[in-house]
Amino acid sequence: MIMARSKYYPKKVYVEAGSRDLSLTKRILKNLPKVPIEIISRPQELIEKVKALKDPVEDGKRHLLLTRQKGGFIKPCPCTPQYIGCNYYIINLDLNCPLDCSYCILQTYLTNPLITIHVNVKDLWKQLDIFLHKKKHRALRIGTGELGDSLALDHITENSRDLVSYFRRKKNVYFELKTKTTNIENILKVEPARNIVISWSLNSHKIAQEDEKGAPSVDERIDAARRVLDKGFWLGLHFDPIIRYSGWADDYKEVIKKLLKTVDPSRIAWISLGSLRFPPPLKPIIKKRFPTTKIIYDEFIQGKDGKIRYFKPLRFELYSEIAGFIKKYGGSEIPIYLCMESGEIWERTLGWKPQGKEQVESYLSFPLD
Ligand code: SF4
Repeated sequence: MIMARSKYYPKKVYVEAGSRDLSLTKRILKNLPKVPIEIISRPQELIEKVKALKDPVEDGKRHLLLTRQKGGFIKPCPCTPQYIGCNYYIINLDLNCPLDCSYCILQTYLTNPLITIHVNVKDLWKQLDIFLHKKKHRALRIGTGELGDSLALDHITENSRDLVSYFRRKKNVYFELKTKTTNIENILKVEPARNIVISWSLNSHKIAQEDEKGAPSVDERIDAARRVLDKGFWLGLHFDPIIRYSGWADDYKEVIKKLLKTVDPSRIAWISLGSLRFPPPLKPIIKKRFPTTKIIYDEFIQGKDGKIRYFKPLRFELYSEIAGFIKKYGGSEIPIYLCMESGEIWERTLGWKPQGKEQVESYLSFPLD
């Protein structure tokens, strides 16, 4: 696989015949001049072929499929049943990701393991116009990066430029791009706006090195965050998944201290915290694909949503410590929220319990004038 630490190039591009003349397809192929191309009429046959291979996840990352999004591009973030959500909407432009984190939930989404870009973006703009018109009387948080990394393919698609240009005019929308990469060249070329949040997923150095294969180091991510902040964007941060091991607290403290000494805390839109959680079928996949990882061996319970997560007192300890480090080094003004957690854990770790996702949404809103 051609997967540099920050730039990905596929071994081959498959273009669905009906998508070959679309402008995004042409742009992508122009950005991949040396990569072989095959026009196919039945993507499902290719998907089934890759699914039958020994490691479909690994093989799927080698190949890029350009096709149409046949359903809607915009969906409410599924969050997880029984826990407090944050009223987030996601845009599904890309599916799958060239990085290879051991804990990545996409490894269980084997209906299509190929890295897939939905190239019918004209439909996206139309759908967005209608969607935002319907919601024009309320503030919205919307982003990409749910079924992949928002910037990992950006040197190929240049989608960030178009998305930022579209959303910068939408004054009731907070638009977020979420990444672990340093692929920020296009971001640095577009005009920033107050409602555009560029976010990084961070972890301890140990987890980043051992369990986030292909991702830039934590220091490189923090440096990229500083550069987009200097350019004038707002910054989001996601410590997710937080993972326990001997010495975790000191390791997370070190990263948070370095982060909050490097970037201006008053320009941080939000920080989310989420602890390791996974559906049971992911465990054997992690075991097989990452035989040396230790992250799946700890005191877990099965949560109300069926996912495996740390025993409650352990989650409480993780969030309390990490929120404490953020307050110590960045002050108490940075909005911190918990991803997929119960009201009880909110109350015990952050000192308040939202009455529902609307309250989380308004807590995370900031003035856009
Ligand atoms: S960066 Fe995100 S989407 Fe990509 S492999 Fe890691 S967890 Fe999965």
